[in-house]
Amino acid sequence: MVLGSGATALIQLGTMSIKQIQNLILDMDGVLWHGNRPVPGLPDFFDQIAALGLRWVFATNNSSKTRQQYVSKFGGMGVTIDPNQVMTSAVATGHYMQDAIPAGSNVYILGGDGLHESMSEAGFHVLARDDYQTPAAAVVAGLNLETTYADMSIATLQIRNHGAKFIGSNADSTYPTERGLLPGAGAVLSSIETATDQKPIVVGKPFPIMYQQALKLLGDGATLTNTAMVGDRLNTDVAGAKGVGMRSVLVMSGITQPADLEASEMKPDFVMSGILELAAELAKVHK
Ligand SMILES: [Mg+2]
Repeated sequence: MVLGSGATALIQLGTMSIKQIQNLILDMDGVLWHGNRPVPGLPDFFDQIAALGLRWVFATNNSSKTRQQYVSKFGGMGVTIDPNQVMTSAVATGHYMQDAIPAGSNVYILGGDGLHESMSEAGFHVLARDDYQTPAAAVVAGLNLETTYADMSIATLQIRNHGAKFIGSNADSTYPTERGLLPGAGAVLSSIETATDQKPIVVGKPFPIMYQQALKLLGDGATLTNTAMVGDRLNTDVAGAKGVGMRSVLVMSGITQPADLEASEMKPDFVMSGILELAAELAKVHK
């Protein structure tokens, strides 16, 4: 297998036909943009898949933003979306916790606006940023670019002193930006795990709950066999899709390098250079 040769940019690794794909679950970082820089042709991609009659939702492990903040981010890139198309790991974590801890419990958040909003929406009482004395039923951790040592200390004290459950929105090791790869939520979880000797329960990709909730968001008729997860990470996007039996498309516009794919046991159903190639391939079979 030779990747990146240009002549054979589309690589089909499984036996399925791309024609089966009627619905897309789109990862965002590394697929639609890098930080605040959209990939080339982003609005065109959505025009093209809309014209083909496909349905799509977004599923991101990034828990730092609210759905409305994503609407604004897309708007700034010339794309109009509905907030209800967005499944973040923060939203999925809120749903998970409604089953995992008693309604209305105190929670401590080591994370951003997305987790604050989803915990409030799920009916939990969010403790103040410096409150280590009021016991929390859970510490919920994700990526927040403003996290400090003081915040990490409160999270550690809540788990060590009060026995709070340790829940992570996602475990991505890195976070891609214009500058390069920065520490992701997984790095935050590791720091608290090291400090507390507790392993977190993780909700985001590659765990099944995100995929199940994204399928629900797509609506009637969306199934594991007519829906594809489109992402740039083998160990989250693709691994999670395989885990639930869903189709997967790996795009080479983000974190995965050709050598990574060759070395990995984890093989997606399709490999594409990016979303424009995906739209072009779908257009060939959905005319
Ligand atoms: Mg990504």
